[in-house]
Amino acid sequence: MTETAVEPPTFHHFIAGEWCPSTSARTFESRNPADTRDVVGRFQQGTAADVAMAIKAAETAGPMWRRTPAPKRGEILYAFAELMARHKERLARAMTREMGKVIAEARGDVQEGIDIAYLMAGEGRRMFGDTVPSELPDKWAMSIRQPIGVAGIITPWNFPMAIPCWKMMPALVTGNTVVFKPSSDTPHCATLLVEIMAEAGFPPGVVNLVTGAGAEVGDAIVDSPDIGVISFTGSSATGKRIAARAGAKLKRLSLELGGKNGVVVLADADLDLATDGILWSAFGTTGQRCTAASRVIVDRTVLAPLLDRLERRARALTLGDGLAETTDVGPLINAGAADKVASYVDVGREEGELILGGGRATDGDLAHGHFFQPTIFSGVGAMDRIGQEEIFGPVLAVIPVEGYGEAMLALNQTRYGLSSSIFTRDVNTAFRAMRDFET
Ligand code: NAD
Repeated sequence: MTETAVEPPTFHHFIAGEWCPSTSARTFESRNPADTRDVVGRFQQGTAADVAMAIKAAETAGPMWRRTPAPKRGEILYAFAELMARHKERLARAMTREMGKVIAEARGDVQEGIDIAYLMAGEGRRMFGDTVPSELPDKWAMSIRQPIGVAGIITPWNFPMAIPCWKMMPALVTGNTVVFKPSSDTPHCATLLVEIMAEAGFPPGVVNLVTGAGAEVGDAIVDSPDIGVISFTGSSATGKRIAARAGAKLKRLSLELGGKNGVVVLADADLDLATDGILWSAFGTTGQRCTAASRVIVDRTVLAPLLDRLERRARALTLGDGLAETTDVGPLINAGAADKVASYVDVGREEGELILGGGRATDGDLAHGHFFQPTIFSGVGAMDRIGQEEIFGPVLAVIPVEGYGEAMLALNQTRYGLSSSIFTRDVNTAFRAMRDFET
C-alpha cells in the first residue's frame, strides 16, 4: 500500500432525502487504522446549523411517518434487512477497512444489523397496547403506543453498523423519525448504512445523517428542544455529559456505556475452555468492546497453569490487516487509542507483573497502522487502576484470589459491571454466581 494517489471520495450529510454538504464547507478524513496511508474518504464537518436542518426535515416527515400503518413501516424495515443481507460482504469489508476489526467479526456486526431489522419489522405487527379493567363503572381503560417524535441517535465506532441498527430500527418502526450522528471514526460505515436505508424506501426526512464532531453535532442534538429522545452508546464520560444536559431538559434518554468486565476462573474450571473464552473476550476486536474481558479473577491454585495457557496462546495470535482471513487481531482505532493503551501499560508496570506484550507492534507492514501487542499483566490487585478503569485495548489484568468468596468480592468491586462470567464445573457455584455477580 502506498499513500492514496487518487483523490479520496467526498461524502455528504443526508437530510430530507438529499445528500448535501455541510454549512461549514469543511470536511474531515477517515483513514484505515491498519494502514493510515489509505484514506477511506472525506466527510462533512457538521455544524449546529446542519443539525437544525436535519431536525426540521425529521419534524416535517413526522406526521406522514406516524400515520403510516406500523405494519407498512415494518415492511420497509424488512426490505432494508433484505438489502443489507444482499450487501453483507461489501459492508463487512468496508467496515474492516474503516475501523479495523477482523473480517469475520465485521460480518457478525453486519449480521446483527440484519437480525434487528427483521425482528423490528415483525414488531410492526405486534405493537400491542394493553386493555385493562377499570375500577370505575362504564369506563374503558386502554393504552396504545405512540411515537415520541424525533429521535437523536448518537453512536460509537466499535460496532458501527450493529449499534446504529439496534437504535434506529426500534425508533423507526414505532413511528419516530431520526437524526443520526455516527462516530467520526466510522462515518463511511454510517453512510453506507443510510444509502441502503434510502434504497429500502424510508421516505425523505425519516432518516437523516449528520457527520461531525461530538462537541458540535452531538451537543446540538442533545440540546435541541425539538428532539424528544436520545439514544446514546459510547463512553461513560460522554454518557455523563449527555445525561446532565438531557436531564436538564427532561428528555427521554437511553445510555449504553463502558465496562470493566470480569471473568472468574475457579479451581475446578476447565482451563482450556476458560482460555478459549478469555482470549476471545480480551483480544477479540483488539479489546475494543464494551464487554471485553479486561480482568480475569483467578483462584491462586490454578493461576500458574492458566497463565501458562494464556501466554502461549496469546503469543501465537497473528496481528495484521483484518481483511486477511488469517489475522486474529486487528489494529486499535486511532493514534489516540494507541497512546491511551500505552499509558495504561505504564500504569500496569507499576501495579502488576508484565507477562506478555506491553508495546506497540511495528514489524513490517504493521508500522503503518495502530497495532498493539496483546498484553497480559499478572499479580494485579482488584482496586488497582488497571483492575478498575476501562482501557479499551488488548490489555488483560489477571487478579489472583482465594476461593469463590474473594472472587465474587473482587468481581463486584467495580463501578461498571457491564458483563461477567464464571468458569467452574460446579453447577451450584455457577448458580450462586448468577445470584451474586453485580453486572
Ligand atoms: P465516545 O463516548 O467517545 O463517543 C460516542 C459518540 O458520542 C460518538 O459519536 C461521539 O462523536 C459522540 N460524542 C462525543 N462527545 C459528545 C458530546 N459532548 N455530546 C454528544 N455526543 C458526543 O465513545 P467511543 O470511543 O466512540 O466508543 C467507545 C465506548 O463506547 C467505550 O467506552 C465502550 O465501552 C462503549 N460502548 C458501550 C456499548 C454498550 O452497549 N454498553 C457498546 C459499544 C461501545
